[in-house]
Amino acid sequence: MPGPGFEFLGDEERHNVEQVLAQWSLTRYLFDNPEEQSFVRRLERDIEAHFDSGPTVAVNSGTSALATALAGLGVGPGDEVIVPGYTYVASIGSIGHFGATPVLAEVDESLTLDPDDVERRITPRTRAIMAVHMLGASCDMERLRKIADRHGVLLLEDAAQACGGSYRGARLGTIGDAGAYSFNPFKVITCGEGGVALFRDHASYARGFAYQDQGWPPLRDNNGVGTGEATFGLNLRMPELSAAVACAQLKRVDTVLAETRRVRNRLIELIEPHEGVRQRRLHDAEGDCANVLVHTFDSAEPAREVAGQLSTKPLADSGRHYYGNMPQLSGNTSVRYARGDLPRTDDLLSRSLAISVGVSDAHLGSGFGVGVRSTEEDIVRAAEKFNSAVRSAVAA
Ligand SMILES: *Cc1c(COP(=O)(O)O)cnc(C)c1O
Repeated sequence: MPGPGFEFLGDEERHNVEQVLAQWSLTRYLFDNPEEQSFVRRLERDIEAHFDSGPTVAVNSGTSALATALAGLGVGPGDEVIVPGYTYVASIGSIGHFGATPVLAEVDESLTLDPDDVERRITPRTRAIMAVHMLGASCDMERLRKIADRHGVLLLEDAAQACGGSYRGARLGTIGDAGAYSFNPFKVITCGEGGVALFRDHASYARGFAYQDQGWPPLRDNNGVGTGEATFGLNLRMPELSAAVACAQLKRVDTVLAETRRVRNRLIELIEPHEGVRQRRLHDAEGDCANVLVHTFDSAEPAREVAGQLSTKPLADSGRHYYGNMPQLSGNTSVRYARGDLPRTDDLLSRSLAISVGVSDAHLGSGFGVGVRSTEEDIVRAAEKFNSAVRSAVAA
């Protein structure tokens, strides 16, 4: 039971894949007019229309989408990019990949970037802030935008875990100067492996496009040759088979989110309030993807105790999502971070516990909970287990 989109894979995905197979149209560039026919192009257009975004590029993973976004924004050697210490390794790794320096910042009670700490870490070399909508919930985009504008730095959204989520009515990923989605099986919607980079302006889009397609101008528009920057790129293109699945999944995104939120709301009704425990603060509760339901305890001890009883672990023990569990950061890189460098993040994660709602992933610390297809009985049972574990831990 990975992410919620996975649970909704069905006939339309199969039908689209069969259409690809019927013509063996395995790449976006098979047709004379790729604009018209390819699923990859259709996915890009559907995302732009459905999420009301600027120009987008579909690529082969969420990590590729982050790299494409960074390339599009022109991040390079000597630049610093501020990124939270609580995020998947890909956010930090993609920055280092461009020879830029990841500068880790604290998260606050929302478990997303703490705007005050971001502002403290801005230097003349800061090029961008990477806002990660961690566990499906939005960062404080208003404050981050103001800080970015005040200091003349770019704002990039890692919305890998939050496709379809929103902040004050705007879809996550479309608010910053660039954004990125992932469609791996643990995300809101999936095509196995895939991602999309989103841009605010055409120049960044064209640079991003060139990066994932061997330096070509967008859509290999030969009229455009010579008008863009001459550059090398990689091949990170999304295959047609993946796009065929992603197009069908995108149509389901709002249904997937509505169902996930319904399950979360029921779980919230059933969870008893307890002294010393509260749900994580959300900057936009309505726009939360509800991948998980996070509770933060007043101290680490009951959090650990409850986690033990539920055979899960506090978020500080979730591998590869917390800088304290990334040996890469203390090893061979020029940037060195180790547990203790972000005391507030360390403290909050040691006291926080995620119950799975849409996304069940032991690595994310959401090994206990329910799923989008759970029955009322399942939800009641999970809530009771949580309630009794909290009761005994808090009484202890
Ligand atoms: C999943 C994820 C990514 C990377 O996506 P992939 O498709 O697995 O490459 C990047 N950032 C965050 C925050 C993620 O959760």
